[in-house]
Amino acid sequence: MSYKKNDTVKLTITDLGTSGEGIGRVDGYTLFVKDALIGDEIEAMIIKAKKNYGYGRLMKILKASPARIEAKCPVARQCGGCQIQQMNYEAQLDFKRSLVGGNLERIGGFTGDSKLEVLPVIGMESEFNYRNKAQYPVGLNKEGKIVMGFYAGRTHSIIDNQDCLIGAKENVYILQKVKEWMEENAISAYDETKHKGLVRHVLIRTGFTTGQIMVCLVINGNGLKAEQADKLNEKLLSIDFSKLKTSAASRFNDLESEELKKDLKAKGDGVARITSIMLNLNKKDTNVILGEECKTLYGSSYIEDFIADIKFQISPLSFFQVNPIQTKKLYSKALEFAGLTGGEVVWDMYCGIGTISLFLAKKAKEVYGVEIVPQAIEDAKNNAKINAITNSNFMVGKAEEVVPEIYGKDGDASAKHPDVVVVDPPRKGCDEALLNTLVLMAPKRIVYVSCDSATLSRDLKFLCEKGFKVEKVQPVDMFPHTVHVENVVLLTRVN
Ligand code: SAH
Repeated sequence: MSYKKNDTVKLTITDLGTSGEGIGRVDGYTLFVKDALIGDEIEAMIIKAKKNYGYGRLMKILKASPARIEAKCPVARQCGGCQIQQMNYEAQLDFKRSLVGGNLERIGGFTGDSKLEVLPVIGMESEFNYRNKAQYPVGLNKEGKIVMGFYAGRTHSIIDNQDCLIGAKENVYILQKVKEWMEENAISAYDETKHKGLVRHVLIRTGFTTGQIMVCLVINGNGLKAEQADKLNEKLLSIDFSKLKTSAASRFNDLESEELKKDLKAKGDGVARITSIMLNLNKKDTNVILGEECKTLYGSSYIEDFIADIKFQISPLSFFQVNPIQTKKLYSKALEFAGLTGGEVVWDMYCGIGTISLFLAKKAKEVYGVEIVPQAIEDAKNNAKINAITNSNFMVGKAEEVVPEIYGKDGDASAKHPDVVVVDPPRKGCDEALLNTLVLMAPKRIVYVSCDSATLSRDLKFLCEKGFKVEKVQPVDMFPHTVHVENVVLLTRVN
């Protein structure tokens, strides 16, 4: 049976797709329905019909799934940021676990006797306000009033909402002050269609451990007049976070070293406050949020934060994990899987700013990190320096080129045959040239950190055909309310 646009059908949702959309069937016809959950009995209107499948709009819930809850955020459905807020958190974690299991079976071929156990997903105790970085677009609504919030669905129309529930609690107060400053000083908002107006985005980065907050305005211009800048600084620095709900510095007591805590406290850390006000200049007519140049209006050009007791300096352009609480759990698992005793040589492929490398360096003899972005390697070297870590080495280049080259040359045998290799590739997974070299390097253990369980499954299949065995698959929920799930996998060498 086939259907056409505007038909209304009743169906039960039996599955969720990779974007969190509900999937159900009516007479063999498959329908994808955004916002519907497994177990929902719904009425949907077909908005796009193909021969064997179509897309429906959720019109009515006839019987709600037991997992269905009211989304906490009033704009969850319009906003593209969260996809599954209407699912209770436990069900979200179960869903992510089965997503990983499904990919390991279908793509990795781990079925029957070789079926892998996926451990329960490590979730958050409190699954809101977890992001330490937020970028709010700024614009004008139809009435010409300044709006800032998020883009609706797949469009570029801005919905005015300053209180994103997965962002830091401080953001709403900061955005309100920026808005006031713009209104009081006749500062224009950027208009994308005309490529005119000044303020494009407000970027806020928050050190959850230190309490340091950076506010960075992305502008379509070269700077602000001195008087405008002074007024902005004054406005932002007038916020008294001690009287408000805050996310920043809520992890201060998680630092392990008492001495470190004492030092940090002496310089003001451990309480929420704005320590950096910046401008980022972006005069290009594109969708890319940040330009290359930054100017400091107040304080430092970076904020500091910690993962475990390792300090990182974060500038507007730096890459840094956005959920520091779960990152610590993820890296602790990676460290546990690496099984370090102090004498090991470790490679960290796709190392970014060296987060995992430095985390492991404290327990290893020598660590080698490889990363394609030169600025990230600069950051990694700097991070090693400020933490007085001397047994880490960082190289710029494509892992699939740098590593085979080092392996092919005469040189340090311990570097060529490390005890442990960690890989943490982007979504597309590892290049086969790298995987082939890993097989030759023959480490005792490979720790595979992955943000895409489909490519992870493909790569695990490859490694298992070449002498490795999967010991553990541990998903970690880095992004509650979205369909993303991170995994850390331990492989050991069998021959
Ligand atoms: N391990 C880091 C970053 C992981 S994200 C952390 O936890 O913070 C993946 C990283 O791989 C990014 O920094 C990206 O720039 C880098 N990358 C992408 N392709 C690469 C390649 N071919 N070789 C090396 N690094 C690459």
